[in-house]
Amino acid sequence: MRMIGITLLGSTGSIGVSTLDVVERHRERFRIVALTANQDAEGMAAQCRRHRPEYAVMADPVAASRLRLLLSGMARPPEVLAGTAALESVAALPQVDSVMAAIVGAAGLLPTLAAARAGKRLLLANKEALVVAGSLLMRAVADNGAEILPIDSEHNAVFQCFPGDFRPGCGLEKLGVERILLTASGGPFRDTPPEGLAQVTPEEACAHPNWDMGRKISVDSATMMNKGLEVIEACWLFGARPEQVRVLVHPQSVIHSLVQYRDGSVLAQLGNPDMRTPIAHALAWPERITSGVAALDLLEVQKLDFRLADRERFPCLDLAYEAATEGGTYPVILNAANEVAVAAFLTQRIGFMDIPAVVGKTLQRLPREGVEDWEVGQLLEADRRARRVAEQNLAGLAE
Ligand code: NAD
Ligand code: MG
Repeated sequence: MRMIGITLLGSTGSIGVSTLDVVERHRERFRIVALTANQDAEGMAAQCRRHRPEYAVMADPVAASRLRLLLSGMARPPEVLAGTAALESVAALPQVDSVMAAIVGAAGLLPTLAAARAGKRLLLANKEALVVAGSLLMRAVADNGAEILPIDSEHNAVFQCFPGDFRPGCGLEKLGVERILLTASGGPFRDTPPEGLAQVTPEEACAHPNWDMGRKISVDSATMMNKGLEVIEACWLFGARPEQVRVLVHPQSVIHSLVQYRDGSVLAQLGNPDMRTPIAHALAWPERITSGVAALDLLEVQKLDFRLADRERFPCLDLAYEAATEGGTYPVILNAANEVAVAAFLTQRIGFMDIPAVVGKTLQRLPREGVEDWEVGQLLEADRRARRVAEQNLAGLAE
């Protein structure tokens, strides 16, 4: 069997570490060509010693210098590269077959796009890239013979419930699909009384009941902006209209999502909440490999509960639906304002309920522009503009 060469963008993060765990279980099948991270030189040095990549990239040049020092005693160390352009070049190397896009935020857009343009199999965890540049990214996949396989557990579940010959762009109607049902745990505050939400701390917001994730997506799960971003992600991945994607709160996180067909059938994918399952699925697709995740024990689970999302407690969900429906620059603005607001919440500059306030205000203050023929540079400019306005809105809150 030919070894599959992998570039792992965001290797020191939660998805990155889970990916390396799966890869390590299948050394005969996968070979790490490049690892990338932002600032964590120590974490990267340990991963380099263990996985022996050809390249190690640190987006932060100071961290790259530190990494070179840390690896100086290593026999045949990787080539250490620095800066964001290097992220794009390792995503497009000829010896790479699959690129795991697991950088957090819009910062992952350019390398993700580079992988699509180079015709790679793109394993997409970085949902923000699709929210910001959905049409551009999906076109790049189609035009360059690339493949896109969802890592986000809900979208991976939907993909598994689709017919085997599904390809992006083939249309839900043709598949007989009426609706996509994305499940949501409801996050750590699903039962917190609304008046208590203003006081919650970053630590409480990051203590997710079912999933162990990076801090940004943990806060997004707590505000349910994560589910909103996932609605937009589903629209692009599966060619769905926003009204065809519904959100269902399912506190146990055992059903990862469902697809409702025209004939009344509803197909679901179930499993223990562990990202190694969708990662293993996408890494080996269409084959199945072991992931390290224990089999689901339904006798232990016993009960599966469902309820509607509380739109008042979680205004981010409606903001995301609005952005999905309006399209154009709205999803770019939604995402940029959310990234600014979440960072401010994590550093305790604003309160939890200020997150939807900042996002809502930023959407109000900027006009919607059509993006059909936009280049990535124009999208990134719209992203920067939205960040500036969101920063002003943060300052406004402090007054
Ligand atoms: P994380 O914060 O744990 O890791 C982020 C990774 O990206 C790190 O390796 C970090 O070094 C790198 N990074 C951060 N900023 C960067 C920058 N400016 N330039 C280059 N690299 C940068 O995040 P995570 O939880 O692993 O999430 C990664 C992505 O996967 C996110 O888009 C998230 O929404 C998505 N996702 C995560 C999970 C999960 O369970 N963690 C599930 C579904 C989707
Ligand atoms: Mg998800």
